[in-house]
Amino acid sequence: MTQQTVAIVGFGTAGVNAAIALRNNGYEGKILAVTDGPAVPYSPILTSYYAGGQKTYEECFPWTEAEIDSLNVEILGGCTVEAIDVAAHTLRTTSGEFAYDKCVIATGSNPVTRGFPQVEGFEPLVMRSMDDAQALKDAAADPACKRVLVSGASMVALKTLEACVLRGLDVTLVGMMPHVLDMNALPAAAERFERGLEAMGVSLKLGTTIAGVKVIADDQAYCGRQLEVTFANGDVELFDHVSVAHGMRSNLDFIPAGDLEIDRALLVDEFMRTSNPDVYAAGDVAQALELISGQRRIVGIWKNAALQGACAGSAIAYELAGLPVPASCAFAGSISTNTIVVGDLLFISAGTIELNDDRRVEVCEKLGMLAVYIYEGERLVGFNQVCDNPEDRRLAYDAGGMLTLRIERALK
Ligand SMILES: Cc1cc2nc3c(=O)[nH]c(=O)nc-3n(C[C@H](O)[C@H](O)[C@H](O)COP(=O)(O)OP(=O)(O)OC[C@H]3O[C@@H](n4cnc5c(N)ncnc54)[C@H](O)[C@@H]3O)c2cc1C
Repeated sequence: MTQQTVAIVGFGTAGVNAAIALRNNGYEGKILAVTDGPAVPYSPILTSYYAGGQKTYEECFPWTEAEIDSLNVEILGGCTVEAIDVAAHTLRTTSGEFAYDKCVIATGSNPVTRGFPQVEGFEPLVMRSMDDAQALKDAAADPACKRVLVSGASMVALKTLEACVLRGLDVTLVGMMPHVLDMNALPAAAERFERGLEAMGVSLKLGTTIAGVKVIADDQAYCGRQLEVTFANGDVELFDHVSVAHGMRSNLDFIPAGDLEIDRALLVDEFMRTSNPDVYAAGDVAQALELISGQRRIVGIWKNAALQGACAGSAIAYELAGLPVPASCAFAGSISTNTIVVGDLLFISAGTIELNDDRRVEVCEKLGMLAVYIYEGERLVGFNQVCDNPEDRRLAYDAGGMLTLRIERALK
C-alpha cells in the first residue's frame, strides 16, 4: 500500500497543532508541511515584544527544534504554496509540485496596508513576522529615528505602539474611527484607554486618515529623509517612520476562485472541513462557529488556531484510519477575547460589543478600573475592562478571567 500524505500549508500555531494531533491520534503516514516562514515557527503574538525589547529573539519561538523534530514532519521552510488544485489533490509550490491525500490550510493572516498611499522610495513598517519586528527594532535603535506615526487603532496597531513607546520614540496614532479598539471596545472603555495613552505622551489623531506622504531629502534625518504626512483633516506633520496596521486579511490568495467556499475566510464545519472533504482549514484562515452570534466568523486568536489545528489533525487521523470521527474531536466554537497592555494601561475584553434591542450596557468604575458590561437579559455576553493603575493589574487579570469564564459557561 502506498504511504498516505497529509499536507499542512503554513506551519504556525494551527499547522503545528494539526501535526501534533495527527501523531497523537495514531497517524503514522507522511506529514508534509509547506511554509514560507521558518521550519521552527515563531509566535506572531510575541513579535512586538521582541521589537519593544521585552522578549529576546529566542523567546519568540514557542517550540524547540527538538520538539518539532519529534513530530516526524517533512518541513519545507521558506517555501510558498502558489496554488492548490483540489480536484487533482496537488499543491504547486516554489519548490515544485506535491500530492496530498488530505490537506490542512493554516496560512494565517497578514496586516493590511490598504488605504496607505503608494509612496515612491518608502515602505511602511508592519507587524507580523520576526523580520517585521526586527525592522522596527532596528529603526528604533537609530538615534535619528525619533518620531513614529502608527496608522490603525486595533490590537496590532496598539501592540506596535507599545513597542515604540518602550523604545522611547515619540508616537502619534492615527485612526479612521472616532475611537481606538473600535472592533473590541465600546466608547466608554475606549475613551478611558485613550486618556491613558495621552497621559503617556502619545498623540492621538482619531477620526482622520493619512491623505498623502511626501519623502523629503534631509542628510541629517533618519535614512536621509523625512516623511511629510498630510492628514485628511488638513494637518501636516513630519515623521521619521510610519507603521501601518489597517486590519488583518486571511492568506488565501493561492486558492483558485470558486474551488472552496469562502466568505471572509474558509467556511468550515465542526471538524474544520472546508467545502471539499479532503481540505481542512484552521486558525486565522478559518471561519468557524462563534458562540455568541451563532454564526461562522474569524476569531483570530492563538488559542483558536491551536484548538482548530488540533481538531483538524484528529479528524484527519480518524478518517485516514477508516474510522468515524468521534463527536469529542469537534471544535466547540469560541468567543472573541483580547488582552492588550501599553505601558501602565491594560485592556481586557471578551464576548461581543454588538448592541441590539435585547442588550443593555452597564458602566462601572471600581478600584482604578473601568468596566463595561454588555448584558442580554440577565446573561453577560461581553465586557471591556480598562485598568490604568499597575498596582491593580493582578486584580484586573483575575476579574477578566472570571468574566470570560462567566460568558463561556452561560453558553454551555
Ligand atoms: C502583532 C500581533 C499580536 C497578536 N497578539 C495576540 C494576542 O495577544 N493574543 C492572541 O490570542 N492572538 C494574538 N495575535 C493573533 C495570533 O498571533 C494569531 O491568531 C495566530 O498566530 C494564528 O495562527 P495561525 O497558525 O493561523 O497563523 P500563523 O501563526 O500566522 O501561521 C501561518 C503560517 O503560514 C505561512 N504562510 C502564509 N501564506 C503561505 C503560503 N502561501 N505558503 C506557505 N506558507 C504560508 C506564514 O508565513 C506563517 O508561517 C496577534 C497577532 C499579531 C500579528
